[in-house]
Amino acid sequence: MAGTARGALVATARRIGVSPVDYAHAIALGGKWCVGCKTFHDCEEFGADASRRDGRADMCRLARKRRYVTPKRHRRRGLEPDGGGLAEGPMGRREHS
Ligand SMILES: [Zn+2]
Repeated sequence: MAGTARGALVATARRIGVSPVDYAHAIALGGKWCVGCKTFHDCEEFGADASRRDGRADMCRLARKRRYVTPKRHRRRGLEPDGGGLAEGPMGRREHS
């Protein structure tokens, strides 16, 4: 019975970290998993995306918008160098040539 629609459903549920029962229940109610919010929304919340199997984007419109406003990479870059205190600290560890 491997490779059935049910198997795919269970696999998807595991991947996103919800129980297959909850997942099936949400789908039955017309829901869809949002990878941006990590929760289920009504299908109506998702924009169209022809490249997807179900024809819907994998995150809701709001999550999409939010992602463009605060990209993760940008936040990470803020942690690197030029944070004031660093300049006076570990300089002694420099290589001597
Ligand atoms: Zn969402």
